[in-house]
Amino acid sequence: MTNQATEVTINQVKLRIIQGDITKQSTDAIVNAANPSLMGGGGVDGAIHRSGGPAILDECKQIVARQGRLPTGKAVMTTGGNLKAKYVIHTVGPIWHGGNKGEPELLASAYQESLKLATENNLTSIAFPSISTGAYGYPVSQASKVAIDAVITFLSRSTTPLREVVFVLFDSQTLGAYSSALREIGEKRGLRPA
Ligand code: ADP
Repeated sequence: MTNQATEVTINQVKLRIIQGDITKQSTDAIVNAANPSLMGGGGVDGAIHRSGGPAILDECKQIVARQGRLPTGKAVMTTGGNLKAKYVIHTVGPIWHGGNKGEPELLASAYQESLKLATENNLTSIAFPSISTGAYGYPVSQASKVAIDAVITFLSRSTTPLREVVFVLFDSQTLGAYSSALREIGEKRGLRPA
């Protein structure tokens, strides 16, 4: 579809949207939509641990032993184990409770804390799934706008070694929502499609 926005550039960083399986990406890091226990789960979390092998869970256990459960909106980094990506950044998105329990701020924080961690670790590329829109129930039409806005805001305000941020969306409905969000927010901010 020609009118689907799939790429913009912000401060020399490419922001792209694709449909696919995040476990197959060769970006420096892929982001996991984890839960606070960091013990794995269903959805993208289960897929990442299955493909990446036990080294990821071992590191997650060490992190929890050291600092406890991971609060919503925060992020930590482990090895990528057997994945193509060198690292996995685990973040916890909010559970949808109707939208008046700080969900947008917590979701934006999950993206921005992940980008901050990637920046601090000198990574040049990172792939995100659609955090919170599966088991956590966040409506994708709203989550996609928060996600795109959070990433663009971070990239426009920060000095970062990142050169590529990719949203890897599992199904075509989610892809469509993120594409609309990118077009809408890109136009509002005067970003030209790459
Ligand atoms: P949450 O608990 O944060 O809602 P889920 O894993 O349940 O996380 O869902 C988040 C999104 O990840 C959903 O859109 C789901 O379809 C998607 N997803 C599941 N598996 C993969 C995968 N292998 N690659 C990319 N996205 C995936």
